[in-house]
Amino acid sequence: MNRKVIIIGSGPAGLTAALYAARANLNPLVLEGSQPGGQLTITTDVENYPGFPTGIMGPELMDKFRKQATRFGAECHFKHVTKIDFSKRPYRVWVADESYTAETIIIATGASAKMLGLESEKELMGYGVSACATCDGFFFRDKKVLVIGGGDSAMEEATYLTKFASEVVIVHRRDEFRASKIMINRTMDNPKISVAWNSTIAEILGTQEKGVNGVVMKDTQTGKTRKEACDGVFMAIGHKPNTELFRDFLKADKTGYLITKNGSTVTNLDGVFACGDVQDHVYRQAVTAAGSGCMAAIDAERFLESQPN
Ligand code: NAP
Repeated sequence: MNRKVIIIGSGPAGLTAALYAARANLNPLVLEGSQPGGQLTITTDVENYPGFPTGIMGPELMDKFRKQATRFGAECHFKHVTKIDFSKRPYRVWVADESYTAETIIIATGASAKMLGLESEKELMGYGVSACATCDGFFFRDKKVLVIGGGDSAMEEATYLTKFASEVVIVHRRDEFRASKIMINRTMDNPKISVAWNSTIAEILGTQEKGVNGVVMKDTQTGKTRKEACDGVFMAIGHKPNTELFRDFLKADKTGYLITKNGSTVTNLDGVFACGDVQDHVYRQAVTAAGSGCMAAIDAERFLESQPN
């Protein structure tokens, strides 16, 4: 069956697109991807999503998004798209051996956590190295952990980790945070948190058998290195867009974010729309992602209406 619209991804952008497309009778199929619900499912309290004055947990918020979309007929499947062919319409997407076609595609594949690129980081991932405090913080009760980064994520992760850890050190490569004032103040007021300024991680020490036992830290001003003991390392150095699948067909900027026509979700291909973090490296908020998901569904609906029957 050739669909009117397939939505790839299921964060705030994908599920809002699904809600609007379903209410427009487009019977959207949502292929949710490898992290159903997107990045909010690995965060804790969401305090800045309008309509929830006392905050809401990320996974609960995404469940509500999904329920609202399916209530109007969106079909959501926990399936991960492995291949696409956008060379002609209808466009085709594969989930392993299964394939689906649609007149329009809404891409909402979001972004994923960036890593430092160290061999030791790869080897010790899941053995003391993590990119998700909510997922792994529990394992660091009464331990010392490092959080790498200086943005809002680093502040949020560090604060969250103090629920478990006895000591949290934020390691930042400059002498000034990029994070917002309110997040910085909350973090700096926490007696369990300290900061290693002008520092990066040159190596993570440990084994898969015994976990992490320290890092080699490098002073970014003097180049000097020193060892720092710790039990865990949490990466919070930003995100990269999930756009590898689309590289052959869609225009992206030099860091890989899909390019959309100003003020819309229109990509360089007729009938292919992009919304949420996959095309937004500036705002990257749940509420802006949801807004652009709504735009994508409206753009898709108008595109379909403009086509000859
Ligand atoms: P971000 O704002 O891009 O910050 C990334 C941080 O990591 C920066 O401080 C950066 O240092 C550092 N960094 C990047 N690459 C590095 C490397 N290779 N080695 C060492 N350090 C590195 O990312 P984010 O904190 O994930 O936030 C992304 C967006 O989400 C922002 O718009 C943020 O406001 C939003 N957010 C909001 C909330 C909230 O409001 N509750 C929570 C989390 C995130 P430099 O500063 O030197 O570049």
